[in-house]
Amino acid sequence: MNRAAIRCSVALLLTVAHAPIAAARPPIVDVHVHTSPEQYAFTDALLTANGVSRFVNLSGGAPGDGLEEALDAAKDYDGRVIVCANPEWEKLTSGGFGESQARMLEQAAAMGARCLKISKSLGLGVPTPEDETKLLTVDDPRLDPMWAAAGRLGLPVFIHTGDPAAFFEPMSPANERWDELSVHPAWSFAEPQYPRLEALMAARDRVVERHRGTTFIGVHFGCWPENLDYIDKALSVHPNLFVDIAARVPEIGRHSAEKLRAVFLRHQDRILFGTDLGVGRSLMLGSTGRTKPTIADAFLFFADHFRFLETNDRGIPHPTPIQGRWTVDAIGLPEDVLEKVYAGNALKLLWHEDGPQGKDRNAVMHGTSVVDFFP
Ligand SMILES: [Zn+2]
Repeated sequence: MNRAAIRCSVALLLTVAHAPIAAARPPIVDVHVHTSPEQYAFTDALLTANGVSRFVNLSGGAPGDGLEEALDAAKDYDGRVIVCANPEWEKLTSGGFGESQARMLEQAAAMGARCLKISKSLGLGVPTPEDETKLLTVDDPRLDPMWAAAGRLGLPVFIHTGDPAAFFEPMSPANERWDELSVHPAWSFAEPQYPRLEALMAARDRVVERHRGTTFIGVHFGCWPENLDYIDKALSVHPNLFVDIAARVPEIGRHSAEKLRAVFLRHQDRILFGTDLGVGRSLMLGSTGRTKPTIADAFLFFADHFRFLETNDRGIPHPTPIQGRWTVDAIGLPEDVLEKVYAGNALKLLWHEDGPQGKDRNAVMHGTSVVDFFP
C-alpha cells in the first residue's frame, strides 16, 4: 500500500473509530509542542488520539505577554499540560538583562511555569545590546543570572541552538534540505555573518558546563543530530544535559541503527520523546513546507515515530518527508528503555512523578475525539 493509500485509510479509520492506535502502548509524553490556549483542546484531542497523554507547551511566553493565559488554560487538563516561559529578548537593550530575566523566571515559576524555552534566535538572531550588527553569543556572561535562576527554581531549560547542519551549507538545489530552504530562505545560515554550527555547539556546552545546577534539554537531539559522536560525548561529559528527539528522527535515523541504539541505551535516562508538533492556523509536523498537512498526516507522523523507536524495520519512511528524501532504519528499543524515553524520563524531570498515572490512561482511552473538531 503506498502512502497516499495509507493516508486515505487513516482518515477513514478516524471517522469510524476513536483512538484505535492508543490502546496498544503505554501512555506517552510529548515534551516538544508549540501551541496556544485557544488550541489546547484540539492539541490534546489530537495527541490523546495518538496515545500521547501529556504535553509540554514550549511557547508559553513571558509574564504579561501571554504566559498568564497559557497557564490558565492549562488548568483544565488535570496537570497533563505544562508550560514553559520564554525570555523577553526585546528587553535586552536595558541594562542588567540577565538579572531582569532571573526576576522574570521567579515570577513565571510562582505563576506555575515549569520550564524555560530558549529558541535558536539566541546565537543566530538576538543582537548584542551595544551593537545591533553583532549577535549575542549563547555563552555571553550577561545571561548567567538567567541560567542560574532556572537551576535555583528547578525549571529545566529547553535550549535550541543552531539548526540542521545543511542550513549552514550554501543554499542551492544541491543542498539536501532544499525542500525546506526553497520555501523558507530565511532558514539559511550559510552567510558569513552567522557563526558556524561547531562554534554554536561549543558555546552552548560552555553554558551547560558553567551551570551544573541547571538542567538543560538540548532539543532536536542535542541540536547536532548529524554528529552522533559529539552528542554521545556531550551526554557523557555533562550529567545535567538531556536531549529530546523532536523533529530529528529523519537525521538520527540515518546513522547505523546499531550505533544509535547503543547511544539510546547508554543515555536511556536522559533522552525524551518529543515531536515539534505545532498547532496554530495550520499544523506543523516537525517542519513546514509548501503544503498544509492534514489530520491524517498527523496520525502518520506519530505512527512513523513509534515504528522507528519500536521496530527493527529497515529503509522505512521517516516522520517528516520535507526534511529530506531518504529513508531511515528503526532502532527497536527494549521495552524498559522505551518506557523511559516515551514517558518515564519526562515525568520524573518535568512532573516529578514516578510514571504514568490513571489520568494518563483515561485521557488516552476517553479523550475528546478529533472528529468532534470538524463538524
Ligand atoms: Zn520546536
